[in-house]
Amino acid sequence: MKRKFVWSLLGFASLMILLYVLQPAPDDIKFTDETRLMLDTFIRIVVYDPDFPADSVKQAISAAFADFARIDQLCSSVRDSSEISEINRQAGRAPVKISRHLRKILEYAKFTSEISGGAFDISFLPVSRRWNFYDSSRPFRKPAPEEIATALPKVDFRKIQLEADSVFLREPGMEIDVGGIAKGYAVDLAFETLQKSGLRDFQIDAGGNLRFLAGPVSTGKRKIWIKHPRNRDLLWGYLQMDTGCVATSGDYERFFIEDSVRYHHIIDPKTGYPAQKAVSVTVIAPTAMAADAFSTAIFVLGPVAGLQLAETQPELEAVILYLEQGELKWVASHGIRDKLVLESVGVASF
Ligand code: ADP
Ligand code: MG
Repeated sequence: MKRKFVWSLLGFASLMILLYVLQPAPDDIKFTDETRLMLDTFIRIVVYDPDFPADSVKQAISAAFADFARIDQLCSSVRDSSEISEINRQAGRAPVKISRHLRKILEYAKFTSEISGGAFDISFLPVSRRWNFYDSSRPFRKPAPEEIATALPKVDFRKIQLEADSVFLREPGMEIDVGGIAKGYAVDLAFETLQKSGLRDFQIDAGGNLRFLAGPVSTGKRKIWIKHPRNRDLLWGYLQMDTGCVATSGDYERFFIEDSVRYHHIIDPKTGYPAQKAVSVTVIAPTAMAADAFSTAIFVLGPVAGLQLAETQPELEAVILYLEQGELKWVASHGIRDKLVLESVGVASF
């Protein structure tokens, strides 16, 4: 019970990473929405379709949440019965058969690792455990350098052997976690489900992983606000977009501060320490899975290598916020600049 409670608080925090609103929103905009706690975060689905029967909308939303439940079952690294847990238990021993869904996630994770030179690496878990980012019953802690040095050799995506229908972690003690990509995949599944139900104007938000479709109600009105990473009361700016996938990774939702240093849950696989080069990264991509994975990858890479990655991948766009001598700075890839509006407003105005 205790575990659940703590996670739900963390989940609530990450719900706020991107604010997602229609503006201007006349009082007569009608919508159906539902929020559920899944995949360690709050998932919110909002449907605007004006002429769709209410019952059918509710049914479609339930079916979309069933997609999230399915991915949660497969992918949780805290749930003993998940495919991920079985893969981790069999590390160094035997390959484990995997479902089609997990295969797609692991394939894309591998692609992201390769493109990012290992900045994205789902085998980071042995290191992350030392920081207690994975045990919500205990507080976060800073491990001794020797602990990190012991765990770090287990982190290597090249030792994840992915076959047609199985996966094998080559070394005992290796462990994977797909928390940096699975929510995006689940959003894509749910998106398809809603679309197949005939809906044309809706949005899905899974803890800062968004996918949305413009219809008659929302067109021209969607603003995706990026939070100010160092001032909880402020929004930093917004993206004006009607249709697409956006995800943000930040260091200001799950973190602790010790001796004036901020430690958080995105690990640089090269050092075993939380990535320090960026504070907030927002990515636009063709799928929610790509946006999710690459926002984490670019966060680790930081403003220079991260921007370079976004510029060389034609389908990826990024806004990277970082600190220089304590001052907040930003860079953005070319393709995102026409959507980005720098307007800082108070959270309270929503
Ligand atoms: P969140 O899941 O908090 O919304 P992100 O999408 O940025 O934010 O993902 C962070 C999650 O990614 C962490 O909680 C962890 O599960 C996982 N992760 C952390 N570091 C890495 C890394 N270097 N590569 C891949 N996944 C990572
Ligand atoms: Mg991510």
